[in-house]
Amino acid sequence: MNKENLPEPPKHLSTQEFRDHGHALIDWIADYWERVEELPVTSQIAPGTIRDQLPAKAPEFGEPFQNLIEDLDSIVMPGITHWQHPSWFAFFPANASPPSVLAELVSAGLGVQGMLWSTSPAATEIESHVLDWLVDLLALPSSWKTTEQGGGVLQMSASDSTLTALVVARHQAAQQGIDPSSMVAYASTQTHSSIQKGANVAGYGHIRLIEVNEEQGMRSDALSVAIDQDRADGLNPVFVAATVGTTGTTGVDPIRAVGEICQEQDLWLHIDAAYAGNAMICPEFRFHQDGLELADSYTFNPHKWLMVNFDCSVFYVADRAPLIDCLSILPPYLKNEASESGAVIDYRDWHVPLGRRFRALKLWWVIRSYGADGLRSMIRYHVALTQELASRLDTDPRFEIVAPHPFALVCFRCTESDEATSRLINAVSDTGNVAWTGSELDGRPMIRVSIGQRATEQRHVEGLWDLIDELA
Ligand SMILES: *Cc1c(COP(=O)(O)O)cnc(C)c1O
Repeated sequence: MNKENLPEPPKHLSTQEFRDHGHALIDWIADYWERVEELPVTSQIAPGTIRDQLPAKAPEFGEPFQNLIEDLDSIVMPGITHWQHPSWFAFFPANASPPSVLAELVSAGLGVQGMLWSTSPAATEIESHVLDWLVDLLALPSSWKTTEQGGGVLQMSASDSTLTALVVARHQAAQQGIDPSSMVAYASTQTHSSIQKGANVAGYGHIRLIEVNEEQGMRSDALSVAIDQDRADGLNPVFVAATVGTTGTTGVDPIRAVGEICQEQDLWLHIDAAYAGNAMICPEFRFHQDGLELADSYTFNPHKWLMVNFDCSVFYVADRAPLIDCLSILPPYLKNEASESGAVIDYRDWHVPLGRRFRALKLWWVIRSYGADGLRSMIRYHVALTQELASRLDTDPRFEIVAPHPFALVCFRCTESDEATSRLINAVSDTGNVAWTGSELDGRPMIRVSIGQRATEQRHVEGLWDLIDELA
């Protein structure tokens, strides 16, 4: 090679600079967690504010890294809504925790791409093993372990897990000669939008939303009727999504009753436990998902309530054969001895993406750092805080609780009028001191209070109650 013709090698931050800035940024994150409580919970800026501060063109030459860190405070932070704020009662939690963030950093540093077992055996083996641990920790059917006929895989989101289930069920049905345009997927009216989106993306011809009972669970009798009607109309029922802990109110579909219908009718049963699945680490909540052995697939999000920062969604299948049959690919450049031996898992065949990052490290570190006992205490603490708030709302004639609250979400409205509920939603939000979610149930406004942020303590819930009490 002619050395003179070669350009200069590229320049990087030196490892010393990386150390210095890295240490400073760990301090920055720790300081953030310490001071987040003093910040307004939701970002108060007008649309375009952040973008207006960015230069029109990308820099031609590299800047001192210190500038980037300074802009975190001046440009980025005003546009941050603080999901890590202890008065975060909106949506569901999205917790970051120390072991999770540190593992995330290590995973980025290793820069591993774990599409095949052979592209980093540790990434695959730790993932399989930790997901098998979780089968025991959550008392899921033991056949779901990778050491049995099922198996777990990490995905980016519950939406991806659900889409994957929909795609596998469609593939199976298509192999029997059924046209996707005649396929029907079922879920309750309270199902998460990801079911509908997934069915659309997967090309199902129809999605049927089944009515719920007063407790916000799917009416299995109505499901049966809908299936019979669709068959009578020449359509092909294929897929049922049952939810444990709906997003709206944490309603619970009757898994066993729905599962028996699915068995009888030969339909795929997918369980969406994105939020409430985390609570199953505590035995006292498990009766809510009685009948799991009838399910074909299951998803829950440790990135919601189990101290693993986004993204980390778990997807289990009862039988991995149809999943792999549907999604496996083998271009010549991915051929390798380990895969051909059949002795290893290649997770590229378990979901839509080929490439995959080393997400399992943060789940592994979180479980090891907290221990199952630490995670159980955390769930129970949040549930106890929620039940305490619920009993205050329940005994105050100004308020009415609108749905059962078995986990750490309570939904209520003002008894006076819907206008009073809407006013309260805004009055509390406008203080900037807490975040909660105004929503609707049966066409009427309601308020969701989700208690599950890692730093939330009793005093924060007291603070919320004081606001409700004062502004109602
Ligand atoms: C949050 C939630 C989802 C979506 O989760 P993503 O990981 O954001 O896709 C799906 N289902 C239920 C019941 C949820 O609460």
